[in-house]
Amino acid sequence: MLLLRFAIYNKLELMANTESTARAWVAVLANRPELPFASNLREHFSQARITSLCDCGCNSFECKVEPDASLRPLFDEIGPLPSFEAAFESNAPEPVDVIFFTDANGYLSGVDISLGLSNHAPLPEQVQLGKLLYTIPDL
Ligand SMILES: [Zn+2]
Repeated sequence: MLLLRFAIYNKLELMANTESTARAWVAVLANRPELPFASNLREHFSQARITSLCDCGCNSFECKVEPDASLRPLFDEIGPLPSFEAAFESNAPEPVDVIFFTDANGYLSGVDISLGLSNHAPLPEQVQLGKLLYTIPDL
């Protein structure tokens, strides 16, 4: 019985944050005209291998783009930055906070996607983004 419960728990965890969840988020974020690197994000993700998926209830993931990939740095339009944060209104009780990270080459190395500005609760399954609230740095 204990084993069965553990199996179900694991299955739910996997449903909450998988490679296809990451792909779905990138598709949404790459279509946000407010993000100056939106189309670049799509290119970076298409060459990235997902290396870890957070299982805390958020939808964050880490990924790796090979150093010899011929890509412009992710944040090329806005300058050399180690990360870029964007908070969006959502249909959940809290905003959704997204932080994009890059490696030493400027290539996408992960995206933190969490509910609330301090990741205090799991993301609901059908969360949708609304208006952009703010970015860091400010655009
Ligand atoms: Zn997490």
